[in-house]
Amino acid sequence: MDEQSLAPRQRFPRWMLAGWMATAAVVGFHHVPTANASHSHTGWNQVHIATIHGNDGPVGGGSGPGSQDEEYCVMSSTSALPAATIAPFIEQTLAKLAFNIIWDGAADWRVDLWRAAKFCNQYTTAERNRIELEFRVAESWASLCGGEQYACVTAVNPVTDSSGRHQHYMYMNAHLKREQMAAMGDRARKFINHETGHLVGLKDPGYYGDCMHSVMHNNLYLSYGCTDPVWHPTSSDFVSVRNIANRAN
Ligand SMILES: [Zn+2]
Ligand SMILES: [Zn+2]
Repeated sequence: MDEQSLAPRQRFPRWMLAGWMATAAVVGFHHVPTANASHSHTGWNQVHIATIHGNDGPVGGGSGPGSQDEEYCVMSSTSALPAATIAPFIEQTLAKLAFNIIWDGAADWRVDLWRAAKFCNQYTTAERNRIELEFRVAESWASLCGGEQYACVTAVNPVTDSSGRHQHYMYMNAHLKREQMAAMGDRARKFINHETGHLVGLKDPGYYGDCMHSVMHNNLYLSYGCTDPVWHPTSSDFVSVRNIANRAN
C-alpha cells in the first residue's frame, strides 16, 4: 500500500477524523430515525459535503465544475484493479445511467458530480485540495473502516454552514474495497451508490428492521434484517437528499 498517496490530505491532522468518528458514533446512538425516509444527520454536526446546499450555472451544463459543484477524483492503491479501469465505471454509475437511478443531478442539480481529469494521487496537494470528493480503492480498509468487510467514508475539515446552524465538511472520501468493485456489475454499483449516499448526507440503518427501499437500507444490511437488493438511489433517497440540500432535514 502506498501510505503517502492514501493518507488524508496532509494539511488536516488525523485527530479531525478521529474526532468526527467519535461524534458520529454519539449521534448514531442518540437519534432514533424515522421509518419513512432514509436518514440524515441532524443537529449541529451534519456529515455531508459542504457544497450540497448550492448550485452553479446551468442545469448539468457548463464547461467545468463551479464552486458549488462536487468534483471528484478516483485512485487505486492495488494493481489488481487500477484506477484507469475502475474510474470510468464509477463515473458511469454516478452520472451516466438513467437519470432516476443516478446521484448526479439530485436535489435539482445541487448534487452535480464532475470527475476530475486525473487520478487523485496525480495532483499536487494544492490542486487536490480543490477537489471535494475522492473515491479510493484498496485491497482493505480494515483499519480505517473498522473491519475487514467494510467500505466507509471519512469527512475532513468541518466548516460552519452559511445558516450558522450546522457544520458540514469541505472534503469527504469514499473508501471502497477492490473485492467489492472487481466484477464491475450491480454489486459494485451498490457499494459505490451506498457510499456516495453517505457523501451527500445519508446514514445507515439505525437498528434491526430499519429497512426500506433505499440504497442505504438494502441487503448490504442483511445483518439488520434488510433484504431489498436495490443497488441505486431510490425516490426516498432523493427526497432525503433534497431535504438536506434545503436544510430541511
Ligand atoms: Zn450542510
Ligand atoms: Zn453505510
